Amino acid sequence: AAKDAGRNTFQFYNASFYERVQRRVTLEQELRQALARNELHLAFQPTVSMEDNGVACIEALLRWTSSSGESRFPSEFIPVAEDCGEILPIGRWVLGEACRQARRWHEAGLQFGRIAVNVSPLQLRDPEFGSQVLEACAREQWPTDRLVLEITESALMRDSDVLRNTFALFKTNGITLSIDDFGTGFSNLGYLHRFPLRNLKIDRSFVSRMDTTPNMLELTHAVVSLGHALGLSVVAEGVETENVLQLLRQQGCDEAQGYLFTRPLAADEMATWLAAQA
Ligand code: C2E
Ligand code: MG
Ligand code: MG
Ligand code: MG
Repeated sequence: AAKDAGRNTFQFYNASFYERVQRRVTLEQELRQALARNELHLAFQPTVSMEDNGVACIEALLRWTSSSGESRFPSEFIPVAEDCGEILPIGRWVLGEACRQARRWHEAGLQFGRIAVNVSPLQLRDPEFGSQVLEACAREQWPTDRLVLEITESALMRDSDVLRNTFALFKTNGITLSIDDFGTGFSNLGYLHRFPLRNLKIDRSFVSRMDTTPNMLELTHAVVSLGHALGLSVVAEGVETENVLQLLRQQGCDEAQGYLFTRPLAADEMATWLAAQA
């Protein structure tokens, strides 16, 4: 009987493993067709300046409605896109689309600082990436010094000629970087000054717990001090309450982003939101 049970367990495991592989293969196939089928679009979320409540930045966030009509979130499909290499063409599309949309808002007379685009570590490793970014700005007539690229700490961890060349190109053209989800990776603090950084974005997991979890206040305060010591502005992500905003203000945090201001919005909703701020 023990042997039977063992065999059954084994078969059960096999079946579910097979199912997972199937699902993964289907997801990859659908993802490869997503661009051609126009299934990708962007949502936008502002970052607000603590000083004057102005819109310092608008972050582009990728959305995918697959052919079955299902909405899929980045946490589900970006890792798959990275594994199968599809992140490179998708990332190129996001850059162009974000700059194009920023240009449209600008032409409509709407006021905001910069447009921010999330970039995968795999894109940064691509020797063509730097020139692709410049091309996108030129094509969409978007000034390079109004583009910010959000990267994670892990993308900066390994040094390479490609990375150095790309960042040199960015520096010359005024393209700056934001370190996203700061505090969740392990930045080599001694290296941070080497990159053309603009801000540190304190991870949501810290910000959202500032008013409930012991030591969180000290932690966010430390990140604000560190950012300022490096000459960077510090952005808090995931601000959901007036209370947390007030605490961040007291700590000297420069900008905030989160549901308190607005959830990510479609491009036309963002235009309406921007107009209402003015
Ligand atoms: P992220 O860049 O740190 O973006 C912030 C995420 O937090 C977004 O989730 C946003 O919708 C969510 N968020 C913002 N404010 C709040 C808040 O107050 N409360 C809560 N609970 N959540 C908030 P989203 O859009 O699902 O994106 C998840 C992640 O996927 C992003 O994290 C980013 O790392 C990645 N991502 C999104 N778009 C792209 C893209 O175009 N390319 C790449 N490579 N990654 C992307
Ligand atoms: Mg981001
Ligand atoms: Mg973030
Ligand atoms: Mg985050």
